[in-house]
Amino acid sequence: MKNERLRIAIQKSGRLTEKSMQLLSNCGIELRNGKRKLLSPATNFPLEIYFLRDDDIPQYVEDGVADVGILGENVLLEEQARVDTLLPLGFAQCRLSLAIPKNETYTGLDYWNGKKIATTYSNILKEYLTKHGISAEIHAISGSVEIAPSIGLAAGICDLVSSGSTLLSNGLKEVEVLLKSQAVLIGNPKLSAIKQQILEKLIFRIRSKQAAAKNKYILLNAPNHKLDEICALLPGMKSPSILPLKDKGWSSLHSVVQETAFWERIDALKMAGAEGILVIPIEKMIV
Ligand code: ATP
Ligand code: ZN
Repeated sequence: MKNERLRIAIQKSGRLTEKSMQLLSNCGIELRNGKRKLLSPATNFPLEIYFLRDDDIPQYVEDGVADVGILGENVLLEEQARVDTLLPLGFAQCRLSLAIPKNETYTGLDYWNGKKIATTYSNILKEYLTKHGISAEIHAISGSVEIAPSIGLAAGICDLVSSGSTLLSNGLKEVEVLLKSQAVLIGNPKLSAIKQQILEKLIFRIRSKQAAAKNKYILLNAPNHKLDEICALLPGMKSPSILPLKDKGWSSLHSVVQETAFWERIDALKMAGAEGILVIPIEKMIV
């Protein structure tokens, strides 16, 4: 079909929503109506956006109601859907951890034998306990997991943690990490050829943006006799560009550098005689 559009499911309202919308907008994709209806077509890309609860996304993608989706790996693993994981997206980092009241002494995994654990992640927890030969009772609840120990519902919890402040304010401490999670792009394994092409375009744009975010464009001035030394410190995309300055014996050097590498080398660059260093963000980087 000529007018085929790729249908992407994102979280309707929650921690992933803003970043997911931002990701699409960073790829130059504009939505027709800013308001979140269930379905929103893009104006300038063959894409339709479904706004759903994150827990429903794996099933929608598996059933082919949506073609691709953005969600936390934690939900993907819990729901055990038959979908492909296409790309890590680098946001919504968190971990799924076991936690106990902070005054308890933790003795290692054996601690959990014969104990009750409250969680909304029964499948992942069950697998983890089985793998480690622990026999604990899983108490599946649908929310407010962190209050379970204080009301006597369970000895500990298995829940998502990012900064740890929610645990702390509920008198709990993290004792085991079951998995580290971030947002990922998932896809139905059987897309039509046209949808596959649209998906490849989308992934290409996301990758260009991810590469741009990791790199900076850097400009600096240097005395000509120091150029070789400075170039050796800047492993750029290709070789750096060098332009003569009006001041005799000086040049302006331009290069693209990974941000982490830049910070590691800033002192060495200055020592080598670099001056007037400018670091500029890159909008897109075609890789
Ligand atoms: P929904 O109403 O869509 O079911 P939800 O309440 O299940 O939403 P959110 O709390 O919005 O989900 O979290 C969505 C995802 O954000 C989580 O599945 C996880 O991948 C990620 N996340 C990152 N940090 C945290 C955190 N500290 N606590 C919970 N989730 C986090
Ligand atoms: Zn949810």
